[in-house]
Amino acid sequence: MSLKPRTAIIVSLLIAVLAGYFVVGHYLYKVPIGLDQSGFVAGKAMHSIAALIKPDAKNALSGAVLLFLSVAGVGLVGFVLMRSAMRRRQESIDPSRRSFLASAGVALGSVVVAGAVAAARGLFGVGQGGKGWKEISDNINDRTVAFTNPTWNPEWKGATVQSYRRFGRTGWNVSDIVLGTGRINDEDGEKVARMAIDRGVNYIDTSPDYSAAGSENAIGRAIKGQRDGLFIATKFCSPLGHLGAGSSVADYKAVVEASLVRLGTDYVDLCHIHSCDTVDRLMDENAHEAFDQLKAEGKVRFLGVSSHTPNLVEVANTAVASGRFDVMMLAYHHGIWSSLGEIISRARSEQDMGVVAMKTLKGAKHQGLTDFQEYADAYSQAALKWTLSNEDVSCAVISFFKPQHVDEYLYASGKALTKDDIAVLEQYDRRVAGAYCAPHCGACLGSCPEGLPINDVLRHRMYFEDYGWEKEGMQRYSQLGKNASVCASCSAPCLGSCPLGIPIQKRMEGAHRLLTLS
Ligand code: SF4
Ligand code: SF4
Repeated sequence: MSLKPRTAIIVSLLIAVLAGYFVVGHYLYKVPIGLDQSGFVAGKAMHSIAALIKPDAKNALSGAVLLFLSVAGVGLVGFVLMRSAMRRRQESIDPSRRSFLASAGVALGSVVVAGAVAAARGLFGVGQGGKGWKEISDNINDRTVAFTNPTWNPEWKGATVQSYRRFGRTGWNVSDIVLGTGRINDEDGEKVARMAIDRGVNYIDTSPDYSAAGSENAIGRAIKGQRDGLFIATKFCSPLGHLGAGSSVADYKAVVEASLVRLGTDYVDLCHIHSCDTVDRLMDENAHEAFDQLKAEGKVRFLGVSSHTPNLVEVANTAVASGRFDVMMLAYHHGIWSSLGEIISRARSEQDMGVVAMKTLKGAKHQGLTDFQEYADAYSQAALKWTLSNEDVSCAVISFFKPQHVDEYLYASGKALTKDDIAVLEQYDRRVAGAYCAPHCGACLGSCPEGLPINDVLRHRMYFEDYGWEKEGMQRYSQLGKNASVCASCSAPCLGSCPLGIPIQKRMEGAHRLLTLS
């Protein structure tokens, strides 16, 4: 194609506007949040290339490469169009230099125009309902999430583990409070992990997808020189997420071997089939074959399952009946449905499984914790004591990521539940009434004609609002097959289907507003 210079400039700028809006602007949204690779054009291929350079590359890195390439592409198009137009004119005075400078000027102009249009879309939401990253970041910055009890009681200082419990047939005695590492990913987190270990915590729960491998890397540094006294659990999972049913034996083995490298150890004590939502995943032959091979090679000692799905009862019963699992990790906290207590009891009595309670803080709605200051103990301590008051529970995992957590949580170790604790828990329940969705419940799911995963949507909202995991919440929400955009125009047959009184439609609409740009 050969154009006149003026036409070349106009065409270049038009391309810049279109590419700026539909390509660069699109990536500008996707890149900060590091969304699923399928959200990018050629995302999987681009990610494979990025992973060759940096094996633990996050989606955001491959996305950034695409963002850069898309901007450079706009400039290149402008340059080529202008260059060919200038050459066509066959300038008499220094044609080559003049042509180059003019082409470079058009290229630069195209990049600036594409950048401005992209920013208008990505940051300010022009053309997509006026909601862009600016509103999302305002949403994040305007909220304060209290991650610890608002006051720190001097009595807690230096608290250490006071109780070790038998961990089922693993033969271990583990600290009643387990170091959860979902938020540990840097030097500060590493220090917190070391503090917890120094105070007697001997069980560490990590996963490749916690902070996109940041957790395993930090734990690898924290346990250096003291590996033997510790029980380390990780998951069959990559930094990008869980392995699905039907993954190959080689894939299952490869992710565990990558975990061993990050953790700087020859073996892990436990590997979970993580966040297991179906019996298919639980009993996937390849996962079990991979575990058997890894065990024979001395790389993994025990097999576990973790679950907080509406299919939890089916998954948990199958896990117990199979006899394959040494450990079970379940969402278990005060006010939880009664059948869980029975499953936990059978796991112990029938298979001598170790039982780990997770999600112990029941939503961690810390914002209201100032209300609990009149009580001697923190809400977190009351919640841990409630969980551990069930003698069939071997230990409770909770996320540590601030130095105060070490004092605050370990102060609950070995302590009995008191009347004051129960008063704290009841007050908490009143506070979260109508807002806390028990992720494993699923009682409302059959009422939704759209088949929305209501529990998952509300769990991702909880990550954003209550845990302060804004990126994870948005990322996971974007990966759901269906989202809550349809709720606004629905007649809401879900109304009244929640035994906890959650106004589902309102909460779902709010979740969609919070977790997306649309
Ligand atoms: S309001 Fe939303 S969650 Fe409720 S039934 Fe309609 S689509 Fe489903
Ligand atoms: S909204 Fe209510 S019924 Fe639905 S999963 Fe959550 S707690 Fe259960």
